[in-house]
Order: sequence, then C-alpha cells, then structure tokens
Amino acid sequence: MEKVILIRYGEIFLKGKNRGFFEKTLLTNIRNSLVKFNLEVNKVPGRFLVEKYDEDDEFEIIERLKKIAGIFSFSPAIYFETTLDEIANNAINLMANLKGTFKVETNRADKRFELNSMQISREIGGRILANNHSLKVDIKEPEHKLFIDIRENGKTFMYADSIMGVGGMPVGTSGTGLLLLSGGIDSPVAGYMMAKRGVKVCAVHYHSYPYTSNFAREKVEDLAKLLTGYTGDLTVYMVSMTELQEEIHAKCDDSYMITLLRRGMFTLAERICKAHSRRMIITGENLGQVASQTIESMTVVQEVVKDIPIIRPLVAFDKCDIIEVAKKIGTFETSIKPFEDCCTVFLPDSPVVRPELYKVKREQDKIDFEGILERAYKSIEVVEIKAD
Ligand code: ATP
Ligand code: MG
Repeated sequence: MEKVILIRYGEIFLKGKNRGFFEKTLLTNIRNSLVKFNLEVNKVPGRFLVEKYDEDDEFEIIERLKKIAGIFSFSPAIYFETTLDEIANNAINLMANLKGTFKVETNRADKRFELNSMQISREIGGRILANNHSLKVDIKEPEHKLFIDIRENGKTFMYADSIMGVGGMPVGTSGTGLLLLSGGIDSPVAGYMMAKRGVKVCAVHYHSYPYTSNFAREKVEDLAKLLTGYTGDLTVYMVSMTELQEEIHAKCDDSYMITLLRRGMFTLAERICKAHSRRMIITGENLGQVASQTIESMTVVQEVVKDIPIIRPLVAFDKCDIIEVAKKIGTFETSIKPFEDCCTVFLPDSPVVRPELYKVKREQDKIDFEGILERAYKSIEVVEIKAD
C-alpha cells in the first residue's frame, strides 16, 4: 500500500484538442510548486498523483495544492493492488476510529473486477459495520464518505475527503498580463482572479518616494509574495511618479491630480506591456467605488491606452465580496495595514468626478507629460519576487 495524493482537474476536460497542452502546463505548475519536496508527480489517466512523499510534508503539500489554478479537487488517498480482501482491510482500517453515519461509494473503471460498484459498496459497507459498531449507514446524508476507485491498471484508490482546489485554468494557458498592483485590497484580488483564469501575470507598482515611504513599498512586496502562491514567481516593476505629481501639483488645476496621475500610470503600463510581451492590463477597478472609478473617469484615463485591452475583473463586485476573496487568498490582513499610496499624496480637496477629455488634455498640456513619463520609464526598478 502506498500513500498518494490524487489530483482531479476540472475545466481542462472541456478543451478538446488543447487538452494535452493544458495537462502538460498543469503538471509543470504542480511540479514547480512542489519542487522543494522530495516526491514525484505523475500522470495516470485523467488524474495526477503525488507519490513517494514524506508524510511529514503532507500538510504543506496540501496547502500548496490548494492554490494551484486548474486543480478542481484533490484527496489524500491510499493506493494498492485490487483484491476484495485488500479493499475490505484498508476500508476497515480507515474507518476504524469514526463514529456516526457513513456511506461507501464505488467507481469501478476496471470492468474485469468480479463485483459491480453497487455490490462492492454493499459488501465493504457490511464489513465496516461488522468491525466498527459506532457507525451506521446513511445513504442520503452521511457524515462520512468512503470512496473506492478501482482503476483499469489493477490498482485501487481509497480516500475519505476531497479538498477543493481553486479551480479555473492552469497559469500560462491564457496568455500574459500586467497587474497594476497598489497596496490596497482590490488589486491583489484582481491578480488572483486572472491567474486563476490561466493568465501569467507580472505587476507594476507606482510610488511617490520619498512622499510614500519604504514601508509602503515593503507592503506591496509582501502582497506580491502572497500572490506568488497562485501566480508563481512574480516580477514587479517599481515606477516613481514623484516628478509627475510634483509637476501637476505645481502647474495644473489640483482637482485633476488623480485623473492625470492615472493617465500617467496607464501610459507607462502600456509601454511595459509592449516591452515585455504582456497582452493585457489588469486592474482592481470597481465601478462607482471612488471618484476615480466613475465611468467618465475610466473613459478619460483609458484613452491613453491604444493597443492593449484593460481587464477589470472586479468591475461589478460588491466591496464585501472582494473582501471575502481577499481573506480567502490571505492578502486581506496585509492590505489593510495603514501605509500611504501614491494616490493619497497631493490629494486634492475635490477631485473631478466626471472629467471631460478636452479639459483633462488642457491641464495635461501645462506640463511636459511625455518627458516626465520618459524619465519615469527609464528609472524603473525591477524586483523579482520568488515563490517559496
Ligand atoms: P485597490 O484596493 O486595489 O488599491 P482602490 O479601491 O483603492 O483599489 P484606486 O485607488 O482607485 O482603487 O485604484 C484602482 C486600481 O488602480 C487599483 O486596483 C490598481 O489596479 C490601480 N492602482 C491604484 N494605485 C496604484 C499604484 N500605486 N500602483 C499600481 N496600481 C495602482
Ligand atoms: Mg487603492
């Protein structure tokens, strides 16, 4: 008998001809995520198996598998030669310490096996009952389930729990994106959602050092680190907006600060995308949340981006739903730490809520917008955040 973790993948099945590519990408991602452990990840028909691992590592392996996009669910299982006695003995052992109600479910892929799945479930259920008098059968709503999966290769899997994975598609199967990563709650969630959709992401963070502190920057690096569980290694481009903000503050109508700053952010984002083969800009924007997120603001801001789609996965989310995801993926506690964001530097008393493009352009023309962005772009710092 061997202990294994049985991995099921969901949507990949829908992919017809591309299935091989999806499976291969997922297998590579699983292996990369588990590279520091001594184990094997192998393919069996329709499933992957984590094998030959040290039982002391099981908890941490499970925590990692929970974050890998494309995994539908997985189960720590035992794996052994198929005979009725082996099935019964292992079942009795697994259920020995349980109380309450249970049910046995059998899947018989190996049609050579003498009993059909109903008969196996009944036979094994009977033997469990005979050995554990604290258990009763309940077919409809059992407290415990025991699964028996008899494979074609003469081996059987047996397991009790299925742990849900994140689902979605393997990272690397839906192209590449550049995430605008602030220190807030929303953008890490947006990055997670697109990674889960199969997008390989990298990130850009805009700061206004020395108006924003090094703590603010560390916070963003911490968030990026938390995201790597889902995204794999994450490159973060750190860009200074200090000169742009100082110039706007000195020369433009202050109420356009955020609009012009955001036009600068998106202009540079598109440039980074083109330089690093990124096919989409991803933001945590959410319609109506704040002044900069009215449809009029989004329209005049996105006007600077010419050739690359802007994806806003959270556009229709309620804040409480975003927070729920942030908690689930473990970024919430870091996001709510109180460090300043560049959007809060030189914050005007009354930002324009519904900016008009011609007025925005008039304000923008009061400064050397292009020259400032060119210098910001040249001084980009690249930080490589490695997945653990
Ligand atoms: P978040 O919680 O992600 O900070 P928010 O609700 O505070 O979002 P805004 O500050 O208007 O909203 O930002 C909207 C989006 O713009 C963010 O989700 C992020 O994608 C991007 N963004 C804002 N500030 C920055 C920044 N300093 N660096 C990189 N991207 C940013
Ligand atoms: Mg913010």
